[in-house]
Amino acid sequence: MENIRLLNAEGKKDIENQLISIITNKRLTVDFQPIINFSDPQLLSYEALIRPPKESQFKGPEELFRTASIFNCIEALEKACLEVCCENYQKQKIDGMLFLNVSPLTLVNNSTDSSIVENILEKFDIPHDRVVIELSEKYPLEDYEVVATAVNYYRHQGFQIAIDDLGSGYSGLRVWSELVPDYVKIDQYFIREIHKSPIKREFVRSIHEISKSLNCAVVAEGIETQEELSVVRSMGILHGQGFLLGKPSNIAVTKPPPSVLISKEISQAQSLDAGILLNEVLIKNPSLNNDARLADAADLFFKNKQLIAIPILNGNKPIGLLMREQVLEIFLEQYDREFESDQCVTLFMNNNPIIIEKNNIDSAFRKMLLNVAHNECDFIITEQGAYLGIGQVKKLFAQLNEQNIQDAKHSNPLTLLPGNVIIDEWINMLLQTDASFHVAYFDLNYFKPYNDKYGYSRGDQLIIWLGDLLTQHTHKNTDRVGHIGGDDFVVIFQSDDWKLKCEHILKIFEEKIHNYFDDEDVKAKGIYSLDRRSKAEFFPLMGLSIGVVNPDSSRCNSHHDVSQIATEAKHEAKLIGGSTLYVSRRRSPSKDSFSD
Ligand code: C2E
Ligand code: MG
Ligand code: MG
Repeated sequence: MENIRLLNAEGKKDIENQLISIITNKRLTVDFQPIINFSDPQLLSYEALIRPPKESQFKGPEELFRTASIFNCIEALEKACLEVCCENYQKQKIDGMLFLNVSPLTLVNNSTDSSIVENILEKFDIPHDRVVIELSEKYPLEDYEVVATAVNYYRHQGFQIAIDDLGSGYSGLRVWSELVPDYVKIDQYFIREIHKSPIKREFVRSIHEISKSLNCAVVAEGIETQEELSVVRSMGILHGQGFLLGKPSNIAVTKPPPSVLISKEISQAQSLDAGILLNEVLIKNPSLNNDARLADAADLFFKNKQLIAIPILNGNKPIGLLMREQVLEIFLEQYDREFESDQCVTLFMNNNPIIIEKNNIDSAFRKMLLNVAHNECDFIITEQGAYLGIGQVKKLFAQLNEQNIQDAKHSNPLTLLPGNVIIDEWINMLLQTDASFHVAYFDLNYFKPYNDKYGYSRGDQLIIWLGDLLTQHTHKNTDRVGHIGGDDFVVIFQSDDWKLKCEHILKIFEEKIHNYFDDEDVKAKGIYSLDRRSKAEFFPLMGLSIGVVNPDSSRCNSHHDVSQIATEAKHEAKLIGGSTLYVSRRRSPSKDSFSD
């Protein structure tokens, strides 16, 4: 829609009339988006999201609300929205909790006995304890006290409270600490590509840490990919919302998506070892006692050009940080020199520096998060309260980035697919959740002679192609492809059509494998290469063996058991020869465990 403020009077009137017609005739629909509780995925809650009529000029709810605020009819619009949301919730007999977006204005103006929200809920017979009121951080909250009073009113009436879009505005931490909500919903920005950003991970981790101490639940919003879901879950966050988990839909979905069940714990490498990390950034910096004079500090700064800050100690405990720039500035001002140099350092230090205990990096980030306004760039590192040295935020972030690179260690460098450490974690997770899944072990027949004849570079190309083939022909959200080394790949299928997928992969493999051989070898239907005793031997063109198992989680103790039966299945496929799919009936290593 065009910018309303730029329209002439007639244009404005037209938009206003459209808006009023939508409100008075309640020409609105509602979508419900599931919010998943990972510890009990069957337990779904739903956020109601309003939709303007398709034929109108309003593209989405945000545009509708923006326009309503220009024409001062937010409350009327909100009342209509609440009616539509509640009516549909009741009509569809939705079982889970209802998350309702309510603007602060409506909340504040209706915190009395006859509030709109309560009247509407009563009309549709929805108990208060089924409702979570979402208060978005996107809207400015001018008067915290008034909002806090309103929130308390609703809480007394049995409602739960959520802060929505935490991190999207500026007031998040303040609103959070003052309103003490039941839920905080982390803004999508922090979840987007969180697996690639150590900084986003640290922010989310910090939010999660604070929420634990405030006893409030965290919802990660906007989860779109399996990687984002994995990171969120590996941090111990218990609620999630996003397109991967369920798109907003006019009919509320009732089943959790399979992707929730296979979320892997992110590799150990991503759980930061705080001690090691801080050791990397620690600078053994000289310090001064709290009775030192400014002249002593200046002396240290002049002698040591690298020194950026001097921690001030009381005994061995840091109490402040004196910055180079500040001290030198004073000394450069001739006028004050005599006077200032005899003053005590404590008068000039920052007496609220960030102090991080060596073995607790979470607290460091929490403090930094709360201190963004001061934009501190140096912090003091302590061990059991005693001064150790100082660190720079810049270096810490660089170190975190390095850690991110280390994560790649668990992937195969050739195909960049997850390696066996991660695959084993997935399998263990699936066994723990009693999920049904199939493991397919893929192996090339006669890959070694191929490598020997054509060289490793062409061998590598073939491996990359096979990795791509598996990735392209499996379901992105439910299946996992791993490269465990050489020409061995594993796919963990959670989709029901695993057999079709395997057959399809075999078909494409057979169609395309010729492209990787020279014409004359294709004609000869094989190659001459050296066998194990260095004698030339004829090997047929390459085939793909697939051995599939459906592990029984009550009988398989860990990934070791699964790997054993999958390897056996692969051997069976190889014995048959050519490109083959062998489906094993064995479901665990124990002798009497076969499928029907
Ligand atoms: P919100 O409350 O933060 O709602 C979440 C928004 O994120 C929704 O946009 C939803 O469709 C979208 N979303 C959910 N998962 C994903 C994902 O994985 N990726 C991406 N890219 N987006 C995702 P929608 O429906 O356009 O709503 C926008 C905003 O409009 C809402 O943000 C809320 O602030 C407001 N709104 C919607 N319905 C109402 C209502 O009935 N009353 C009030 N006051 N505001 C509403
Ligand atoms: Mg919301
Ligand atoms: Mg939101």
